[in-house]
Amino acid sequence: MLKELCRKMFPRSLWVYHANSGGCNGCDIEVLNALTPWYDAERFGIKLVGSPRHADVMLCQGPAMRATEIALRRAYDAMPSPKLVFAIGSCAGGGGIWHDTYSVLGPVEKVVPVDYYIPGCPPRPEAIVFGVALVLGLVEKKVVDIHVKQDEFPIPRYHPEDLEEVDGTVKYTKSEVV
Ligand code: SF4
Repeated sequence: MLKELCRKMFPRSLWVYHANSGGCNGCDIEVLNALTPWYDAERFGIKLVGSPRHADVMLCQGPAMRATEIALRRAYDAMPSPKLVFAIGSCAGGGGIWHDTYSVLGPVEKVVPVDYYIPGCPPRPEAIVFGVALVLGLVEKKVVDIHVKQDEFPIPRYHPEDLEEVDGTVKYTKSEVV
């Protein structure tokens, strides 16, 4: 449904505003990388703009921070409707490794409504371009089967009855592997 709306509302081009509310710059570099001629996001009509007033989409990087909360909300409010928000990276999507620190509020969805998430730390430029193009209906969704293999990981278990004193030191004489 949201995808259909996107197709109708943003049929030709998407102007994006790049907002970092407190990330480490890893995601910023990948977003800007996606906009360089190498990845050529402009072939999909994706264009970077300097003001949220001209933007259809906000690309958020970094977690929601106490220090930047108001600025992020103001930038969102300044965007004309209809508008979309992408949370790019683990910090924007879930708070990242900083989620429980004193200055962090959590994911950016605590400050602005997020429509799409592109995970990664940082996500590769290909993933960012693919995610935005997917939303615009310009590419087909691809799903790859992932088989997670649990490796054998033996854990030694010690029993108090196996404790013995050897040369003045108390130590376990045997252990059971589970
Ligand atoms: S997701 Fe990773 S690369 Fe992106 S801002 Fe957070 S720590 Fe940095």
